[in-house]
Amino acid sequence: MNLVLFGPPGAGKGTQSQLICEHFRLTHLSTGDCIRAAIRAGTPLGKSVKEIVERGELIPDETVSELVEEVISQNRSTSDSYLFDGYPRTLSQIGRLEEICEKYNLTNPVIVALEVPESVLMLRITGRRICLDCKNTFNIYMHHPEQNGCDVHQCRLLQRADDKPETVRERLRVYHSQTEPVLHHYEMLGRLARINGSGATEEVFERIQTILAETY
Ligand code: AMP
Repeated sequence: MNLVLFGPPGAGKGTQSQLICEHFRLTHLSTGDCIRAAIRAGTPLGKSVKEIVERGELIPDETVSELVEEVISQNRSTSDSYLFDGYPRTLSQIGRLEEICEKYNLTNPVIVALEVPESVLMLRITGRRICLDCKNTFNIYMHHPEQNGCDVHQCRLLQRADDKPETVRERLRVYHSQTEPVLHHYEMLGRLARINGSGATEEVFERIQTILAETY
């Protein structure tokens, strides 16, 4: 099975992706994670997109599509089942994903969208902090490790550059203007499953499992 998981920033895509990948044995392909890794490593691609990502805008279609193809090509011998997290995000990326699936013999992905009210999204993202040691994510509004530190490493938690309120607003705007047309495309084809992404992690995961059990 291949799966595309949609959701605005803060919808819980990262957390649900981990659970889905473990349960259904999929390889997690998060374009956001790949891009952030390239920026941290200071690769030419990372340098060329750093400012765009920090503004909350989308990087060029072909750049991200080449990145996706590179990951799939590198994993060719080990995986043919992916969870696409954050891709496709524009109408033109839909066509590129189809080409990539055809080229690497990947089955048509199931399309799932997590839906969460905007007020909840803002709290989830602007409160999100990451421990650089264990990579665990915490939310300062819900989790109180008193000095705003990670439970395990006692280190200060960092905020992603693009999780600042003004950037989050831009990312939500971009999601509505560029990615919702992608959802409509799949909806018109009868391929989109919309899932309520509010509530506890386990509840949301159960909803996803129910939908995937109906599909497969
Ligand atoms: P994410 O972690 O998925 O929210 O992605 C973080 C940032 O990476 C986005 O705000 C974009 O700047 C960039 N990005 C990730 N995926 C894509 C994509 N499919 N197309 C263009 N830009 C992307």
